[in-house]
Formats: sequence, structure tokens, C-alpha cells
Amino acid sequence: MKIEESMLGTEPLKIREEIPAGDLGLGEEAGLAFSELAFEGTASKFDSGIRIAGTITGSLNGPCARCLEVFERMLSISFRSDFIDKEYFNESAEAEIGQDELDADVLPEGPINIADVVREQIVLAEPEREICSPKCRGLCGNCGANLNLGECGCRDEDIDLRWEALKKLKKEL
Ligand SMILES: [Zn+2]
Ligand SMILES: [Zn+2]
Repeated sequence: MKIEESMLGTEPLKIREEIPAGDLGLGEEAGLAFSELAFEGTASKFDSGIRIAGTITGSLNGPCARCLEVFERMLSISFRSDFIDKEYFNESAEAEIGQDELDADVLPEGPINIADVVREQIVLAEPEREICSPKCRGLCGNCGANLNLGECGCRDEDIDLRWEALKKLKKEL
């Protein structure tokens, strides 16, 4: 859906749109796939521009950046994004940027494409490296074992090795 100023009256315009995730080209490099993306919210006119606000829902699946296991997670991103008329942009954007969950952009010459807004909000909200859980322990740097499944024993070995080296050193002294 494309929003133009002429579509907006005094009441906020309700928007409900499914977004074909493939069109957004997100997460491809990391092998991640977004699916069933939908946006539900409103577009409204205010003094110096257009405000798009609402919630993006969907799901994400792909390999964890730490442990490489494939995981699936639901997404829910609530946002408010102001598209401010060029004339007012500098003053109002600077005043408003820094407030939580508020994002300000210059009002484009043409219509505002909801799919573009959704794409930008996902980029802003999602971490660069997606992980299966904040508690993910990743892979052992030594043997590559998935540490979420248990200890691999490398750490003890490391300590033993260091201990051996120390003993040797003592003997030599
Ligand atoms: Zn993980
Ligand atoms: Zn290990």
C-alpha cells in the first residue's frame, strides 16, 4: 500500500497489510528467512508531515549466529515513524530523535510505501546477528562442540595443559 497526503483526512487511516517477505530482501546474507509479515496500524496527518504507527508481526527462522542451530522466533515490532516535511525537518527531527521508539525521516516527494517502512523498521529493531536465545553459549572455539548441549571438556584440558607447562617451567628453573 502507498500512502499519499491526499488520502489522509482528519481521522487516522487504518492500514492492514500483508507484506511478501521475499520482496524485502532482508537477512539473506545470514541465511535468515522472514515469513508471514503483516503490518497493522494507522497513517495520520499532523502539522509538519505524516505519521505511520503500528505493529509488524511475523516470524523469523534461520541459523543462530553463535551456535549455527536453526531456530524460529516470532516477531512483534511496535513503532511510530514520522515523515516530516523538508521545511520543518531539521528543527523537529532533532527535537524528537532520541525519544524512545520514535523514528523521523524526511517526507518523500512521492507516496510513502508501507513495505519500505516495514523493511526499515525491521532493520532498526532486529540485531545484526540473530541468535537463538540470549542465553545461547555458542560453539567451543577449540573443538566446535555446541556448548548448549553440554560441556565439551576443552576448558579442563586447557587448564591441564597450562598446568603442565608451569610444572615444566618449575623443573627447568
Ligand atoms: Zn544459538
Ligand atoms: Zn571444546
